Amino acid sequence: MAFEYAPAPESRAVVDIAPSYGLFIDGQFSEAADGKVFKSVSPSSEEVLSEVAHAGAEDVDRAVKAARKAFEKWSALPGAERAKYLFRIARIVQERSRELAVLESLDNGKPIRETRDTDLPLVAAHFFYYAGWADKLGHAGYGADPRPLGVAGQIIPWNFPLLMLAWKIAPALAAGNTVVLKPAETTPLSALFFADICRQAGLPKGVVNIITGDGSTGAMLVEHPDINKVAFTGSTEVGKAIARSIAGTDKRMTLELGGKAANIVFDDAPVDQAVEGIVNGIFFNQGHVCCAGSRLLVQESVADEVLDALKRRMRTLRVGDPLDKNTDIGAINSAEQLARITELTAAGEAEGAERWAPDCELPAAGFWFRPTLFTNVTQAHRIAREEIFGPVLSVLTFRTPAEAVEKANNTQYGLSAGIWTEKGSRILWMANQLRAGVVWANTFNKFDPTSPFGGYKESGFGREGGRHGLEAYLDV
Ligand code: ADP
Repeated sequence: MAFEYAPAPESRAVVDIAPSYGLFIDGQFSEAADGKVFKSVSPSSEEVLSEVAHAGAEDVDRAVKAARKAFEKWSALPGAERAKYLFRIARIVQERSRELAVLESLDNGKPIRETRDTDLPLVAAHFFYYAGWADKLGHAGYGADPRPLGVAGQIIPWNFPLLMLAWKIAPALAAGNTVVLKPAETTPLSALFFADICRQAGLPKGVVNIITGDGSTGAMLVEHPDINKVAFTGSTEVGKAIARSIAGTDKRMTLELGGKAANIVFDDAPVDQAVEGIVNGIFFNQGHVCCAGSRLLVQESVADEVLDALKRRMRTLRVGDPLDKNTDIGAINSAEQLARITELTAAGEAEGAERWAPDCELPAAGFWFRPTLFTNVTQAHRIAREEIFGPVLSVLTFRTPAEAVEKANNTQYGLSAGIWTEKGSRILWMANQLRAGVVWANTFNKFDPTSPFGGYKESGFGREGGRHGLEAYLDV
C-alpha cells in the first residue's frame, strides 16, 4: 500500500519562458531565414510552451560560418583563458539551476526530483571537470600540444537535453573547438536558455551556436562541408544514416546510440538493494535512457522472490505531475514515443509474454505509461531485442553465470550492463565477459564526468566523459 502524499509542487514562477525564441548564431538570437517556426509542447499537459525557429540550409550555413570565424581566436587562446569561461558557465549553471530544472521538467516531462538532483548537478559537474582540463591538454596522453579539430556539429536527443548538451559542449570547448549544436525538436528550450548563459558568461560570440529544428536540420548540419567533426547521440537508425552520409569525407565522428542492457541478479545478491537498482535501472527518466537496464536477467532460484519484491516496490511508484517533488515517474516525452512504447508492448503480449503493471491512476491530459514488466519473455521476443525506450522491463531467467553472460551478450547493442552479487571475483569475471561499454556492479545508472561512457557494437563508438572524452575533440 502506497503512502498518501500531499501535493508538493515546485513553483513554475521561477522560470520565465518567452512566447518565442530565435536561433542563437554568432552571439545573437535571430529568426530563421525563411521565418519557419515549430512549437515546443509540455508532454505532461500538452500545453504549448513556446514557439521556436526552425533552421533551414541558410541558417545552418550561417551558424557554421560563425563557428569557423570564432575558431581562429578561440583555439589560439591559452588553455587557462578558455578554462575561465568554462568555470564561469559551470557557476552560472549552478546559480540558475532551479530555473533550469523547472524548465527541463516542463519541456521534457521528467520529474523535478531528477532534474534537480541528477541532471543539473551533473551538467555543472561536466563544465567544472572539463574546465579543469583546458590548460592541461598536454598531460592528457595525446601528445605535448594536441590541437583541436575545428568546428563540431553536435546533435543531441530529448531524453537528457541539458546534460547531453554539457557532454558535448564542455569537452569540445575545453579542447579549443567551436560548436554548432542542435537540440531535439521536442526539447529545444533548455539549450536556448544555455545560449543565454553563454552570453551571461561573456563567451566570445560564435564559439557556441544553437540551432533548433528537426531531423532535416540535423542532416544539413552533418552534411555541411565545413564542419570537422560530428558528435551524435540518438537512435541507432539515425546514427547509421549519419555514418553513411559522412563516409568518404575526412570528418571525425562519435556516435552514442541505442542500448538493451542486461541487469543481472545472482542468487546471493541482497534482494532489496537489487530491487532498488532494478527500479532505478528501468524507471529512472521514464526509461528514456539509452543505458537503461531494460532486460532483467534473474537467477532462476531467486526469480520468484525478486519478482514479488519488485512488484511490491512498483506498487509504490508515483506517476504524475513532473513538477511535484514526490513524483517518481513523469510523462512520456511525446505522443510519438508513447505510440512506439504502446506498439512494442502490444507485440510483447501478442508474442506470448505476460504483462503486469501496478494499478495506478494516470493524469487525463499529456502522455503517460504505467511502469510495466513482462515475464515469460524469450530471447526471440521483440521486447527482449528492441529498445523500447520507455518504463518497460523484460524479465528473463538464467541458471549459471555462463548462461547469464550468453544471454546478456545476445543483443545487437552493447552500451551498459549491471551485476548484482556479493561475490567480488564473480563481478570481475562477469565484467570481463560482458560486451558493454559500462558495467555497473551493485549499482546502476551512476554517472560521473570523470568516467568514460560509450558503446560496443550497434551502441556506437567513441567515448564521452573522462580523459577519453577529450580524444574525440583533439586531432590525434
Ligand atoms: P529518438 O529516436 O531518440 O527520437 P533520433 O535519433 O530520431 O532519436 O533523434 C536524435 C536527434 O537526431 C534529434 O536531435 C533529431 O532531430 C536528430 N535527427 C533525426 N534525424 C536526423 C538525420 N537524418 N540527420 C541528423 N540528425 C537527425
